[in-house]
Amino acid sequence: MKIFERSVLFLIVLFTLNVSAQQKKYVMVIHGGAGTILKKNMTPEKEAAYIAVLTQALQTGYAQIKAGKSSLDAVEATIHVLENDPHFNAGKGAVFTHEGKNELDAAMMDGKTLMAGAVAGVTTIKNPISAARAVMEKSEHVMLVGAGADLFAKEAGLEIVDPKYFWTKERWDGLQQAIKEDSTKAVLDHGSKKSELLGIKNHDYKFGTVGCVALDKAGNLAAGTSTGGMTNKKYGRVGDAPIIGAGTYCNNETAGISCTGWGEFYIRNVVAKTISDLMEYKGLSVIEASKIALDKVGKMGGDGGLIALDRKGNITMPFNTEGMYRGAITADGKIEVSIYK
Ligand code: ASP
Repeated sequence: MKIFERSVLFLIVLFTLNVSAQQKKYVMVIHGGAGTILKKNMTPEKEAAYIAVLTQALQTGYAQIKAGKSSLDAVEATIHVLENDPHFNAGKGAVFTHEGKNELDAAMMDGKTLMAGAVAGVTTIKNPISAARAVMEKSEHVMLVGAGADLFAKEAGLEIVDPKYFWTKERWDGLQQAIKEDSTKAVLDHGSKKSELLGIKNHDYKFGTVGCVALDKAGNLAAGTSTGGMTNKKYGRVGDAPIIGAGTYCNNETAGISCTGWGEFYIRNVVAKTISDLMEYKGLSVIEASKIALDKVGKMGGDGGLIALDRKGNITMPFNTEGMYRGAITADGKIEVSIYK
């Protein structure tokens, strides 16, 4: 090799090393729902409250990862913070069904083993994400629904609450408004463009479903999603969040994914598994694969967003709505939180 060629090669190696050294490695990414979230509809106090709880959730999960705990532990602890906060449509703060009940859905998946657990339509479990994990780890099933799932959680020793625990005035008012506007349609608790097209007014700019993907020190990914579903939902409606492959999926070979948005579109497009498949079978990056899957949702008339984290620590947080509560933390503990576009 001539001297000139050698120096060019040397420069290329140096440049590559420098670029990879600069690339951030993330260990956790979260969302608190996507929808019509506009700065003009937000008070400074509310905005500060959202940022504070998203930050607290990231710090909580990060502490687990730093202590050498599993990504499953990190996802569960992080989602507890979001489920226990009434700002989000999960756990305390869940939206109401048409009948005026709170029916919660959640799922968790282990990227190392491809084991998964989910609960749907539960009414007494304080932290549905823990019930999803218990289904995964303590039962031979993947998904339990309704009264059976509530009973299973009780027998598994999880905290059981009176259904009244989930009642909040804001969500109750949201239901009354939705019934008044259109008693036949379910709406995203955060409102959406498509709801407007269907003639449903954006009666509520707050929301949403919560999700988390984490990468632990052993290199294992885990993903989880927890939600109250959609305001005014009927007939035992189940959304995408607890459906493995639709709203939640995780594989160490590809990525962990958690979705938020109009669930029916995410189910019909099997969004989370599609992202994983595009990465596994087509060799796409987590960013490219997520964009393709979300664009398809948008083309079909659905809206929302998603978060994804691959095993190398790359993240993406795309959404086709006005905003998405979201955040991520790097391996060295740097927190990033955003709300708007
Ligand atoms: N995806 C959820 C559902 O359809 C709703 C949301 O993300 O806000 O149940």
